Amino acid sequence: MSGFFDTKIEFLKGVGPQKAALLNSELNIFTFGELLQHYPFRYEDRTRFYKIREIQADLPLVQVVGKVLSVQSIGEGRKKRLVAQFADETGTIELTWFKGLSWVSKKLVKGVPLVAFGKPQRFGSKFSMAHPDLEPLGGTVDQAPFFQPVYPTTEKLRHRFLDSKGLSRMLKGLLPLALPKLPETLPAALIESLALLPKRDAIREIHFPSGSDSLRKALHRLKFEEFFFLQLRLLKLKLARTEKYKGRVLDQTRLLTRFYHDILPFQLTNAQKKVIREIYNDLKSGLQMNRLVQGDVGSGKTIVAFICLLVAVDSGYQTCLMAPTEILANQHYEGLMPYAQQMGLKIALLTGSSSKKKREEIHRELASGALHLLVGTHALLEDVVKFHRLGLAIIDEQHRFGVAQRAKLWAKNEDFYPHVLVMTATPIPRTLAMTLYGDLDISVIDELPAGRKAIQTLHRYDKDRLRVFGFLKKQIEQGRQVYIVYPLIEESEKSDLKSLMDGYESVCRAFPGYPIGILHGNMKSADKEYEMNRFVTGETKIMVATTVIEVGVNVPNATVMVIENAERFGLSQLHQLRGRVGRGAEQSYCILMSRYELGKDSRLRLETMVRTSNGFEIADVDLRIRGPGDLSGTQQSGITDLKVADLAKDGAILSQAREAARTVLEKDPYLRFPENKPIADQLARLRKNELNWSRIS
Ligand code: ADP
Ligand code: MG
Repeated sequence: MSGFFDTKIEFLKGVGPQKAALLNSELNIFTFGELLQHYPFRYEDRTRFYKIREIQADLPLVQVVGKVLSVQSIGEGRKKRLVAQFADETGTIELTWFKGLSWVSKKLVKGVPLVAFGKPQRFGSKFSMAHPDLEPLGGTVDQAPFFQPVYPTTEKLRHRFLDSKGLSRMLKGLLPLALPKLPETLPAALIESLALLPKRDAIREIHFPSGSDSLRKALHRLKFEEFFFLQLRLLKLKLARTEKYKGRVLDQTRLLTRFYHDILPFQLTNAQKKVIREIYNDLKSGLQMNRLVQGDVGSGKTIVAFICLLVAVDSGYQTCLMAPTEILANQHYEGLMPYAQQMGLKIALLTGSSSKKKREEIHRELASGALHLLVGTHALLEDVVKFHRLGLAIIDEQHRFGVAQRAKLWAKNEDFYPHVLVMTATPIPRTLAMTLYGDLDISVIDELPAGRKAIQTLHRYDKDRLRVFGFLKKQIEQGRQVYIVYPLIEESEKSDLKSLMDGYESVCRAFPGYPIGILHGNMKSADKEYEMNRFVTGETKIMVATTVIEVGVNVPNATVMVIENAERFGLSQLHQLRGRVGRGAEQSYCILMSRYELGKDSRLRLETMVRTSNGFEIADVDLRIRGPGDLSGTQQSGITDLKVADLAKDGAILSQAREAARTVLEKDPYLRFPENKPIADQLARLRKNELNWSRIS
């Protein structure tokens, strides 16, 4: 049955080998099934006809009925163009073509009513349309009464008459053959309970809409289906893993209780308590934990991590905490050291710059089990680092680590997998998290510790720099410290370094006599640490830096973050940087400096920063601006397979689909029930298609 959909496209009536080759190379369409899934990317409303007098320059695409009065060929050679005067009873416009002139001129029959469709432009007092669509009135192509689908196509294809209309004609031929054979992919009960359109109706409607309402339903159905199978596969993956990997039971709470009552210097927020409970339930469950903790900068993830480590240590296991940079690993180590000492835990730091002697000592103590908590960088992942009994591995700031590295942590023990906790301060919109980390459980710390003053964010232009520097001086006189950050974009490290050095010099000139530090990625790590320490201790008042300070650094006395060329940063990066201030009791400020002329997206980014400090809201805007494909980690996630669904816009459908997939798997984890056969069959087809793909590419 599925054989029909695998039929080579050249066998479709009117296609043949030459067009087929073009469809293969230009659109990756090889089979009937793939043509069927070549969906329109938009629809043109061809219900309305304009009079020529009504045309204005700011209208989008318009269609007018008129007649050709005269045709003129202007210019020579490559500059040659064809201009037709086109009129209805209210006025005249010019239709212009620069390409395909001989083909067009055949269509330009004088005196016959034609429909011209295009984008109007004003030239002086006249209007014109470049390369309009031209059809006889009541056309040869079956004009859908409502929306005309517009298909993705290419210049090459258009030359062979495989423009949007050509593709539509092919689909017109294919649908009557294909629809009766098209299998339903969702169970009847699900279709009914969610009032979804059956698959056949949806496919017909998406190609040939019979009305705006049914088109909307068709899109909904197809989006739902895409999300449903994406989520189903992720959930199955998770299910398979929890079955395969039993977890060690970590359930002891004596250390935790003592820490909580005697040592912890502040009250945990409710969000922190909730997340600790969720993690604790995982640790004692007997199943291996793979959990992501999302918490905005400053939400207090470190202490949550430490409290969970106590449970593991108490239960007789070792733990590790891995950070993406040496600075950050150092800071975790320094910050946790006093707690660890009071709790009688042995803690060590392992980074790329640990001495050989130190490393050997650490390896020894890991193997004997004497070491309870190892803090470090990627150095932890090296194969020589073996634990006696690693019970819980925590990764801070996930966005710097990949899935493969997570997997390396699983292999740290000889005979069992540790529980894995990933903490990220990059807020990911729920929709994206569900997909990117669909195989992880997710906890959210959605509350900041009480008493934090909101950071004031301001946008200033370069011409305001003197005033901004004046403000910085006042802050420093009051005993505060200041960051000034310059952009660093990898492709042009040299010129960025130059802009940092220029910036540093101008800051030195503007602040004579002030102690100023500098920090960037090209420095040796010992130098970085030296500079960072001088800032932490308050010796330097101004830190001029690149985004190396982006992650995690904690200096509560720093109250101002100036970001130079802020228009060059991404939203989530700006948000991360801003999180470096507002960590103490004093009012903090983030000042975004930019040039005056800004693009639309840059302006939206800066406005968003000024408007809100809610990381999730910021992440949503970021997703809308950049689209999901640009975010790291999306490549292997299946997101790029989405044809109609859009993670940035269809969050509600995604939630619905995930819920439905979960319900199905809860009752029937192996999809063996007869009513779930459509799902099982479709999964098999998807898997087969992927195999085909890996053969082709
Ligand atoms: P992040 O989530 O960005 O990693 P940290 O763990 O570095 O945040 O915490 C930021 C600061 O807030 C630290 O100085 C930490 O000690 C403090 N902190 C954490 N939780 C609380 C709380 N519940 N009340 C007060 N201060 C807290
Ligand atoms: Mg942190």
